[in-house]
Amino acid sequence: MAIKAKDISCDIVVVGAGLVGLAAVIALAAQGKRVVLVDSKRNDAGQTKAWDTRIYALTPATENWLQSLGVWSLVDQARVNDVEAMALWNPESETPLHLSAEDANLTKLACIIENNNLLQALWQKVETLDVQIVIGSPCSRVDYADDSVVLSLENGVSIKATLLVAADGANSFVRQQLAIATKTKDFNQAAIVVNYLAEQSHGDVARQWFAAHSTLALLPLPDKHVSMVWSVSTGLAGELLGLSGLQLSERVKMASHDVLGVLKPVSEALSFTLRQTTADSLIGERVVLVGDAAHQVHPMAGQGANLGFRDVIALQALIAGSHHMDDIGEEVFLRQYERVRRADILSMNMLTSGLDSWFSKESDVLKKMTVWGMRQLDKHRIFKKILVKQAVS
Ligand SMILES: Cc1cc2nc3c(=O)[nH]c(=O)nc-3n(C[C@H](O)[C@H](O)[C@H](O)COP(=O)(O)OP(=O)(O)OC[C@H]3O[C@@H](n4cnc5c(N)ncnc54)[C@H](O)[C@@H]3O)c2cc1C
Repeated sequence: MAIKAKDISCDIVVVGAGLVGLAAVIALAAQGKRVVLVDSKRNDAGQTKAWDTRIYALTPATENWLQSLGVWSLVDQARVNDVEAMALWNPESETPLHLSAEDANLTKLACIIENNNLLQALWQKVETLDVQIVIGSPCSRVDYADDSVVLSLENGVSIKATLLVAADGANSFVRQQLAIATKTKDFNQAAIVVNYLAEQSHGDVARQWFAAHSTLALLPLPDKHVSMVWSVSTGLAGELLGLSGLQLSERVKMASHDVLGVLKPVSEALSFTLRQTTADSLIGERVVLVGDAAHQVHPMAGQGANLGFRDVIALQALIAGSHHMDDIGEEVFLRQYERVRRADILSMNMLTSGLDSWFSKESDVLKKMTVWGMRQLDKHRIFKKILVKQAVS
């Protein structure tokens, strides 16, 4: 392919300036790679006083990694809330299963952070780096020339790189260009997300109620605020979205056994369609897929972004272990990435869709087993410790 005047040459081009793409840029630039960041949209991660409706539960492992990248120190800590314990209810039980950081000798189980807060910190870090940022033009083609991948943009710019990191989200353009098929499981569910100011203190506890095709979570935010994430059937989602803010908060109050008292809405309700999508291959010629471009999981476990960050950690480790003369776009190299990441993605898919179908069973025997299992777990600290260690890694 002829290279034009507007051409850019680099080691790695990252497509997608979401959480995962930005983190990838920082991690890979730190390894001395010449990195170019491409996104079709401009950065609109402006911090406002109002609480962002998009929030994430980040594991301590993710937090530590963001710290190592120099991102965590740029986060507004006054807007982050640690999770010290979890309370999990199943449809049959009045009392929840309690899992605490203390059970596993940890200081916290997770932290809850707003999308804007994290995006802003990531952007702030990226802007300190010697990284070329090409924002505002969608991609138009992926081609190959001279042991390189060439990404063309609609504005005529083309970027030649040894490796392309596709972090362009669930509807990944790059994945489609490479004709990488996906397996999709439609849960026929939507997640409704609203922030509330609660009457009672949440006590830094993340609360979750599991029922047939319904998972309700109230996640702690600072100053008695909570983020509500309610995954329900699309039919019920339509009904709930048709309610006024106060009517919806009454429904949430009932479904959450009134544990936090009056819930005053402090944001509008947003809705996200829920799917589990996994790419059949995590790699293509000189391309790796990371984040939602590679896998989209049910939010009930709060793991999508954590999983995407772990893709980047794996890539970072492989590049760190390579010689600077190695071709990091070579198939042998990319195959190692695929091998390292498959098991983690598979187990996350099994966990989230398995939990969803377990709680949707009508069988009395299964319901009794669930209650029995949760009681046993609650009694035995060693099991709780194992569960907590799994959840935070
Ligand atoms: C309701 C809900 C709750 C969630 N809660 C949690 C949680 O608690 N914890 C957690 O870890 N995860 C959670 N997740 C998952 C998490 O939101 C996603 O996994 C994560 O945001 C994916 O980030 P990403 O960077 O891979 O993709 P995205 O955030 O989708 O970013 C993709 C980027 O690519 C750009 N792009 C797209 N197409 C192109 C193109 N053609 N050319 C150039 N650029 C392009 C977009 O503009 C965008 O900036 C939740 C998800 C939902 C729906």
